[in-house]
Amino acid sequence: MKYANIVKPNPATVRQTAPLDERQVKNDAGGFVYSVGKWGQLDRFLILGAEGGTFYVKQDKHVKRNYTCLKECLKEDGLRTVARIVDVSVRGLAPKQDHAIFALAVAAASDELPTRTAALAAVNEVCRTASTFFAFLEELKSFRSLTGRAIRRVVKQWYDAREVDQVAFQAVKYRSRSGWSHADALRVGHPSPNGDMQRSALYRWIVDDVWPSEAEQPRIVEGYLAASKASSSQDIVRLITDYKLPREAVPTQFLGSANVWSALLPHMPLTALVRNLGNMTKSGLLSPGSEATQAVLSKLDDESYIKKSRVHPIQVLVAMKTYQSGRGLKGDGTWNPVSSIVASLDDAFYKAFANVAPTGKRFLIGLDVSGSMAGGYGASLPGGLSPCEAVAAMSMVWAATEPTCEVMGFADRFVQLGFNRKMSLSEAMRKAQMNNFGRTDCALPMLYAAEQKQQYDVFIVMTDNETYFGSVHPKVALADYRKKYVSDARQIVLATSATNFSIADPTDPLALDIAGFSADVPQVISAFIGGPSSVPASVSDED
Ligand code: CA
Repeated sequence: MKYANIVKPNPATVRQTAPLDERQVKNDAGGFVYSVGKWGQLDRFLILGAEGGTFYVKQDKHVKRNYTCLKECLKEDGLRTVARIVDVSVRGLAPKQDHAIFALAVAAASDELPTRTAALAAVNEVCRTASTFFAFLEELKSFRSLTGRAIRRVVKQWYDAREVDQVAFQAVKYRSRSGWSHADALRVGHPSPNGDMQRSALYRWIVDDVWPSEAEQPRIVEGYLAASKASSSQDIVRLITDYKLPREAVPTQFLGSANVWSALLPHMPLTALVRNLGNMTKSGLLSPGSEATQAVLSKLDDESYIKKSRVHPIQVLVAMKTYQSGRGLKGDGTWNPVSSIVASLDDAFYKAFANVAPTGKRFLIGLDVSGSMAGGYGASLPGGLSPCEAVAAMSMVWAATEPTCEVMGFADRFVQLGFNRKMSLSEAMRKAQMNNFGRTDCALPMLYAAEQKQQYDVFIVMTDNETYFGSVHPKVALADYRKKYVSDARQIVLATSATNFSIADPTDPLALDIAGFSADVPQVISAFIGGPSSVPASVSDED
């Protein structure tokens, strides 16, 4: 036995490698922290995913842990689990949809009938494109047979719920994805054309590649078929304009032409636009001051358009990093980035969040720049973005808008990052990445504030919660700071990995844990620090 465990020594003498209380759990770095519970971890999984594992845990183990957590949530409250999946998807909270789609597939294979039914009823809402719908079917097939009546009905309904023109558009834009084609899906669902000759013809075309001559072709099919036979880029340009063809309907050999991109631009969705800026610059369409550049800038500067498009801030960030680098993530294409486009992407990052407005509180943001935040081990963040770079950009949301906001880095000691409110996102990312090494002590932001004798209302700590190095627990450092300086100082943890660890004590009503890259982070934080202290948004409700 250990007498000290019973008599509970002074918390200020407990190192992070020993538990502070009986509620703490050991993180993967060997330190003791709190658990966010299954619901907190589910949120993290839906938003951050488990792809690539973490610095400490290989992908397989990390995915299996999250799968176990998902199963536990489904077992405890299947309907709540499905509701959260739908919420994350419909509000566009996650940088990638894959995790929510996987979770929905697991829910759709639940042993519980009400859960299964709710999950299947949500498919149409979550899988808004054929691409996500096919991804769902592909995941689902690993968990249950697709031959049953319930699945047939879901597939049938996905097609029935769409007008003929919409189905035709999906068929043209997403010919096949995730190993599925529309023909495969139609064979599962057997949707009936319900006496509609055009719909019947469309299904026949999808399955047999033959358009029955008696039925009128939807415009998009007519345009697509003409485009597939086009022999010159003039023809393609005319077809794109006449039929509003998506990029996917344009044969690859024409995609190097500036005129082709110029024709695509007016009706190109924002997510496609930010992804194709490099291609459009390479083709010569986007150059400093060109008409097309003006058109792109007016889209990127339109805040309500950005919000309506549901493009995720992290997607904008990846697009900016890629575009600015002058070379594509895949392949060897290079271009000269147009600086006004880079600047507009920088602004668009802020506009893509649900709500960025100053609260007037005094902020200290602590960025975990320890070795485990360097990236390279995981792919959960798109575009090769490291957690360190992503949190640097996140911190600018407050650094650029709040009148009082200091950003400091920490590993096993303080790191002066030299952030300022006028700095560009890429500069912030570069400064953080440059200082990215060392062991981890998540108590440092609070210790730093106390050492500086500065008054802060809000601590935002962005970290993977793998703290172990410090001689005092973050909770003790926070309590000490509150005692000496600001008695109701809030602590918000933005988690960067889908573990169940948090330095935030879930029983502390002034502390909050959030999945770090959710699109509603500024909104949730604003509500938490502006409103009454007892509103724990999305924090775990377990003890
Ligand atoms: Ca670390």
